[in-house]
Amino acid sequence: MSSLVVFIISAPSGSGKSTLVARLMRTVPRLVFSVSYTTRAPRGTERPGESYHYITRDEFEQRIARDEFLEWAEVFGNYYGTHISVVEQAAAEGSDVVLDIDVQGAAQLKKRIPDAASIFILPPSREVLEQRLRARSEDAGAVIDRRLRDAASEIRNYSAYDYVLINNDLEESAETLCGIVRAERTRRTRIEPLVRPILETFELEN
Ligand code: 5GP
Repeated sequence: MSSLVVFIISAPSGSGKSTLVARLMRTVPRLVFSVSYTTRAPRGTERPGESYHYITRDEFEQRIARDEFLEWAEVFGNYYGTHISVVEQAAAEGSDVVLDIDVQGAAQLKKRIPDAASIFILPPSREVLEQRLRARSEDAGAVIDRRLRDAASEIRNYSAYDYVLINNDLEESAETLCGIVRAERTRRTRIEPLVRPILETFELEN
C-alpha cells in the first residue's frame, strides 16, 4: 500500500465538486473513485453503485458495528461512509483512490492515513454558491437553505487541507485539479520506488 495515493476532495455542495471530480476521473489515468455508502435517497440521474451504494439506516449501523468503514459521518441527517475495501481494491490494481467526502470524514481519514493529499474546493462567494444550488434545483427550497447554512461551517475547516481550489472557472479548475493529482504523484517521498531502478542503471545506490 506504500505507493498508493489517497486523494481527499471536500467542498460544500454546489461548489462544482462533482463536475470537477468527474473531469478528473476522465482525464487522469490510474484513479479509482471511491463509491460511498449512504442512507440518503438517490437523486435525479444517480444510479445505485455508481454515485453511491444506497442502504438503510439499520444496515449502515450494522456496518459501523462491524467496523467496515474507513471513515463515516452524519451529513444533512444521513449517514455517509467509505468502505474499507475501496483502498484495498485500488491498491490491488495499482491505482490511486479519490474520495469525495465531507470535512468530518476528511479529518478522520487524515488521522488514519497521514500522507493522504487533501483538496478543498471553495466557491468564489456565497452569492455564487446560492445561484448554483438554485440552478441545480434537484433539492427542495428548504434543503437548499439548509445546505447554504451548512456550507459556512464546512468552509470554516478549509485550513485543515493541503490544497485550496477556488472554483471561479470550471475549465481552469479542472486543469488545476488534474495538475494537483499529477504533482502529488511525483512527490519525491512517493516516487522513490520508481527512482531506485533508474539509479541502478547509473550504478548509483541510494
Ligand atoms: P450529497 O448528498 O450531496 O451527495 O453529499 C453530501 C455530502 O456528503 C458531501 O459533502 C459529500 O462529500 C459527503 N460524502 C459523500 N460520501 C461520503 C463519505 O463516504 N463519507 C463522508 N464523511 N462524507 C461523504
